[in-house]
Amino acid sequence: MARRGWQVTVLDAAAEPASGASGLPVGLYAPYISADNNFTSQISAVGVQFTQKLASKLLVEGVDWQPSGVLTRKYGETEQWHADAGWIKPTALVKACLAQPNISWRGNCNVKRLVREDGQWTLLGKDDFDSDNQVLLRTDMVVVAASNQSAGLLQDIPNAPKLNFQAVRGQVTYGDLKDAKTPSHPINGGGSYLETNTAWLIGATYDRHNLSLEPSIRDQVDNFERLENLVPDIATRLKTEFERGLVKNWVGIRCATTDRLPIVGEISPGLWLCTAMASRGLTFAPLCAELVAAQLHGEELPLNPRLVKALSPLRFSKK
Ligand SMILES: Cc1cc2nc3c(=O)[nH]c(=O)nc-3n(C[C@H](O)[C@H](O)[C@H](O)COP(=O)(O)OP(=O)(O)OC[C@H]3O[C@@H](n4cnc5c(N)ncnc54)[C@H](O)[C@@H]3O)c2cc1C
Repeated sequence: MARRGWQVTVLDAAAEPASGASGLPVGLYAPYISADNNFTSQISAVGVQFTQKLASKLLVEGVDWQPSGVLTRKYGETEQWHADAGWIKPTALVKACLAQPNISWRGNCNVKRLVREDGQWTLLGKDDFDSDNQVLLRTDMVVVAASNQSAGLLQDIPNAPKLNFQAVRGQVTYGDLKDAKTPSHPINGGGSYLETNTAWLIGATYDRHNLSLEPSIRDQVDNFERLENLVPDIATRLKTEFERGLVKNWVGIRCATTDRLPIVGEISPGLWLCTAMASRGLTFAPLCAELVAAQLHGEELPLNPRLVKALSPLRFSKK
């Protein structure tokens, strides 16, 4: 939207950008392959193109991202090579996007309510100094992209779709890269293993019951077992780092819908949703942002009408 000339203000409850799930140290973008080429597969195939285009424009290759390709290795299946895939440091991407012209970011702005007044949206909430009902912003248009908190922001909106988000905790385990790079590309399947210019990382756990942001040793062990199954020789090499407590962990909370697809579209005049990226924010988010902007400007859409409908918030409207 900023590229199309909008003045964009990003209100974030956190004190720093990329403090939510996008604080992941490094993650994979890759197409999702399914036997029936389902919606996730079709959307991810387009998504990786938008992600690569954005990353190549804004990030330093080899440092912040690498279009390395990804090898998918699943038990009992033939290995598959995906060329349109690689790793990205999400915080670098978020910060690079926020540094673009026409965008200002305001931290410590916890939006509590959205109110329609005189043809505009008023965002009420809490900033550094004031009470919960401080006017944070008045604007023509709002895009709610607040992960699991998005549903609560729609409570007062008449006829808003009922969003049943599932919060899914995840933990990755990572450490400093000491040896020469082997392999030079990430491997995924039952979990994933990747190496950047400076670090290795194993991901990730899935937990819908425990939503604590504290890393757990149990999950660290789970991640090591994932590595043993996925790339046994690297597990052997890293075993002593695990035993000597030289590894680090990062925990985040994903926001998923029941069909595991993002939610993108307008739900009330000037009120849009672009959220629920689940486990694939790096594959989906740049495409979803483009979809919002293209719809708003009446441009040719980056997805066909069936896929646009599959992402629409109206799929959750009460029948
Ligand atoms: C362990 C783990 C591993 C992952 N691995 C990968 C991977 O390899 N590849 C991949 O593509 N994806 C991966 N993901 C998923 C990816 O991290 C997410 O899809 C992505 O970060 C979601 O981005 P987001 O901007 O929608 O949400 P977030 O990054 O969570 O951002 C939400 C923002 O909303 C703000 N906010 C919330 N409520 C309010 C409010 N009321 N007012 C103002 N601001 C508010 C928060 O402060 C936050 O900044 C992983 C996730 C986890 C947890």
